Amino acid sequence: YQRIVLASRPQAEVKPEHFRLETVAVPELADGQLLIRNHYLSLDPYMRGRMNDARSYAAPQALGETMIGGTVGEVVASRHPSFAPGEFVAAMGGWAEMAVSDGAGLRKLDASGVPLSAHLGVVGMPGMTAWYGLNRILDLQPGQTVCVSAASGAVGSAVGQLAKLRGCRAIGIAGGQEKCDHVVRELGFDACVDYKAGNLRADLKAAAPDGIDGIFENVGGEVFDAALARTNPFARVALCGMIAGYDGADIPMRNVRLLLANRITLRGFIVTEHLDCWPEGLAELGALVAAGRLKYRETVSQGLASAPEAFMGLLKGRNFGKQLVKLV
Ligand code: NDP
Repeated sequence: YQRIVLASRPQAEVKPEHFRLETVAVPELADGQLLIRNHYLSLDPYMRGRMNDARSYAAPQALGETMIGGTVGEVVASRHPSFAPGEFVAAMGGWAEMAVSDGAGLRKLDASGVPLSAHLGVVGMPGMTAWYGLNRILDLQPGQTVCVSAASGAVGSAVGQLAKLRGCRAIGIAGGQEKCDHVVRELGFDACVDYKAGNLRADLKAAAPDGIDGIFENVGGEVFDAALARTNPFARVALCGMIAGYDGADIPMRNVRLLLANRITLRGFIVTEHLDCWPEGLAELGALVAAGRLKYRETVSQGLASAPEAFMGLLKGRNFGKQLVKLV
């Protein structure tokens, strides 16, 4: 089967030569192991951080090893007592067509409920990120205003919709008119500001005339700065991501003083450190999707070999909704 390994570490922008496609033999299963055929691979911004050899909340991706990644797939062979061929599981199967697992960390999926791919997005890690940041950090009251950046993306799209279900006002920030139109018309946000239109501060002021009570931050830099400028006293910030800086670009902030002036509470979080919340959150997200009350959009690239290009696109905003690679 085929897999993609990290060939070298990028200094700034990710390039195709940082990856290498390899063909490897399917290993014999040992007792307690199972073999999974991966149907979809999830591409996520955190993978950029793992490509660096830097101290962070997680260890770096090893050179020459299969790139880390969340997958959903079908068990095709098993010597594990709890898993049988034909079952579907979510796993950290990596950038590969197949994965061997000892069962640790696997999540069995009910393939009859929501589509398989959604378990990597709105009913998976990104959905839980939105759920956790909104419910456990921002915890806004009905009528309060939340502002979310990368609003058309996997996490952001869920944040605004869940906020609306709580009775909040949801303001998005996204790149380009097409994404902004989608966020308002399809996802039901109250407004969405195009940060590429060159009028971010004034447009945000018009979109949030009563100020912002909660920021769900995915981008950092100027985008975060503009939202901070509109905060009300005692606003909260769920600091989820700062994608504008992942390729090494500076993400300057001028409004740091507002953290003090507006007595803001800011908390960064890593969703995989809160696994105790996942059963409750995933059940809620799954039910909302099944009922048609939580919408999602996907960008799907075809075949493992397309993963590097799709990943580079994700870091440049070429994806529109959850970025996936279809492997089967
Ligand atoms: P998305 O589906 O939102 O895709 C990334 C989007 O980020 C792009 O489509 C683009 O949207 C935007 N973007 C990319 N580069 C820039 C840039 N230079 N400036 C501004 N926007 C940019 O990805 P996810 O929903 O998976 O992730 C969103 C954020 O959440 C990321 O920062 C990620 O690291 C973070 N995250 C954090 C987790 C945690 O536990 N803390 C868990 C999961 C995700 P546009 O075209 O609108 O600019």
